[in-house]
This record gives sequence, C-alpha cells and structure tokens, in this order.
Amino acid sequence: MRKIAFWTLFLYAIYALFFAFYLFQWTNSSIPAQYKGTSADPATFLTKKELMLTEQFSEVKNFLFFLSVPYEWVIYIFVLLFGLSARFQQWAEATTKRRFMQTVIYVFWLSLLVQVVTFPLSYTSYYVTKMYNISTQTFSSWMRDELIDFWVNYAIMVVIVYVLYMLMKKFEKRWWVYAWLCSIPFTLFLTFIQPVFIDPLYNDFYPLKNKQLEAKILALAEKANIPAEHVFEVNMSEKTNALNAYVTGIGSNSRIVLWDTTLERLSEDEILFIMAHEMAHYVMKHIYWGVGLYIAVTFIGLLLTNRWMKRMMKRFGSLCRIEKWNDLASLPMFLLLISLLSFAASPAMNAISRYEEHAADKYAIELTKNKEAAISTFQQLTRSSLSEVHPPYIVKLFRYSHPTILERIIFLEKQ
Ligand SMILES: [Zn+2]
Repeated sequence: MRKIAFWTLFLYAIYALFFAFYLFQWTNSSIPAQYKGTSADPATFLTKKELMLTEQFSEVKNFLFFLSVPYEWVIYIFVLLFGLSARFQQWAEATTKRRFMQTVIYVFWLSLLVQVVTFPLSYTSYYVTKMYNISTQTFSSWMRDELIDFWVNYAIMVVIVYVLYMLMKKFEKRWWVYAWLCSIPFTLFLTFIQPVFIDPLYNDFYPLKNKQLEAKILALAEKANIPAEHVFEVNMSEKTNALNAYVTGIGSNSRIVLWDTTLERLSEDEILFIMAHEMAHYVMKHIYWGVGLYIAVTFIGLLLTNRWMKRMMKRFGSLCRIEKWNDLASLPMFLLLISLLSFAASPAMNAISRYEEHAADKYAIELTKNKEAAISTFQQLTRSSLSEVHPPYIVKLFRYSHPTILERIIFLEKQ
C-alpha cells in the first residue's frame, strides 16, 4: 500500500515537473516568422504590456489546468488506498438500510472530500484570473458559484450513482449496456433543461437591451431562419472582462446567448460577425451532433470501464477493504477510470470541435462579408481574455476546442 502511494506521488511529481519545464522553459508563444507583422501577429494589435501579460497569464493558466486533472486521480487513488471510501460506505450503511439514502450519504462525504482537497487549486485559478483583471468577480460571488456548482453536481451525481449501482448489482455482466441506454434520455433531458433551469442559477438572462442592435441581429437571424425569441443577453459584466457568445439547449429551449460584455465593448459590425458565427452553430445543429457524439463516446467509455473496473477491484479490492467490485465504495475507481478515459479522449473531441468552429467561421464570413470586422473581433477577443494567439502544441491538443487565433485570422486574411 505504501509502495502504491509512493509511486502515485512520484509519478505525479514527474508529470508536474515535465509540464513546468514544457510551459515555462521549452516553449513560448512567439508566432512563426512568416506571420510577423501581419494582422495575426499580436505585436501589431497589443501593447507591450498586454503582450507580456498574455504570455505570463497563459503559462500560469495552462500549468494549473495540467496540474488539476491528474490531481483528481491522485485523490481517488488515496481515498481508495487508505480505506476512506470503505469507511464512507460503512457510515452510510450504519445510518440507514435504504439504498437510496445510503447513496445520498456516501456521495455527500466523497463529494465534500474532493471539493475540500481541490479547493486550493480552484481558488488559485480564481485568484490568478482576478490578478490579471480577467475576472471582476468578488470572492463572495465566486464562492457562491462554487457552492451552487457543488450542490448541482451533487444532486446529479446522486441520481446517476444510485441508478448505476442498482444496475451493477442486478446485472453484473450487462450493467454497462443498460447504464448506457439510461444515459441517452438523461443526457437529452439535461441538455434540454440546462438553459432554462441550470444556467439561470448562476446568471441573469434576458432579451437584448439595445433594441436598435437587436433589430439588426434579428434581421441577420431571419436570413439564417432562426426564430427571434431564441436570442438572449446574459449579465456577465459583474463577473468578468472577457467576451463571449454561445449556443445552448435543444428543441424549444435552444438559444443563442451573448454576454453583455461583448455587446458593450465591440462595435456593431464585430457583434454581427460573432452573431453570424453562433448562428452557424445553430443552423448546422452542432449541439445535436455534440450530443450524438457524446452518446457514442459514452458507450465505448462504459465498455472499457466495465472491464478495467472488475480487473482493478479483483487485484486491489481487499487492499482497499472493499469486498465486491459493485459495492458503493468502489465509486472512486469508477470515477478514476472515467476521468482517465475522458482525458485521453479529449484531444480527439477537441479536434472535432475545432473542425465545427472553423466551419462556423467560414459560414459567418460568407454571411457578413466583412473581413476587417471579423479580424478585429478576434484581436479584441485576444486582448479581453489575454489568450495566446499561438499556444504550444500540447496545450492546443488538450485545451483548444476552437482553432487558435493565429489560425482563425490567417484563414480570414485569405478570404
Ligand atoms: Zn463557435
């Protein structure tokens, strides 16, 4: 047991060291020589100070990201190894005989522990965005979001875990197929209610305030056959200086959302370009493709999890004081495998997303035919979020669901 604990920490330290060197020493965000001096070169549209901040901020943010994912794995391994998970299950079973209540109790202790242990990292992340003036959120407002997050995730988790372990107990061989079948309506349901019930827990949503601009946006929306009542503004200026817009929800709840920061700080032509980009997602039904892909990936994920989980619990179960692979106490192993698999799958998922984003840019420039506005939009986005124009390769692989700003501006320049 000590040996496994040692190796876990040792490997994590090596991994962290590698990324420290990779991000801070071996790579920088300078762009290829042939693009120097073009509209894609941040030196042409950022001040010296902004350039320096961009580099520092991206390095720190990327480092925090790469630290935090495997950090979660370390927690799960330790919770299993030191019998904490078995302890939580005992507490739950000592309190009640009803399975559902046992799940409520077990998941609470596990979630609380993970939340507490990961708090330093999430706080650092908040502190850094605040320090670089991207986030304008007060500590109490941020903490409030963290708490909402905790309870929303907890509620969803209890439902999932209860159904999951019921299936594992009933169908030891085929549980994962049934779990996958259940996940389909559940995913559709969550995607459907998200814009109406979940997102409003964090921010206020309302129809566009600037009526003159709204008229122009709706005229554009009409060109793309999007019903007018599906465009919303969200109050984000209390929380951030960054700019954004996105498409969310399915069916009658689908909508295009613009952050008020975007509406306040961009020119009309720039806003119309962003709007056209979002409309492209809407028109090309990217959310539906996304949900479909998610369902397909879940199938493979559950198939592999079933095999590996049984194998791992056979080997390490008694060491972790867990009797059977389908005891509630094995949940950290399930979560560990799911997290490992989704991290491994993220480069492929990001690549698909980047492909869709590129298609949306193409659609937008064809609709608006305003190259200057499109390019300055991306320059403004870079400035407002201090994002790097040309990130290191591994960063792009794991973190970029959108093409890099360099790629996006070069594409526009060729139009
Ligand atoms: Zn997009």
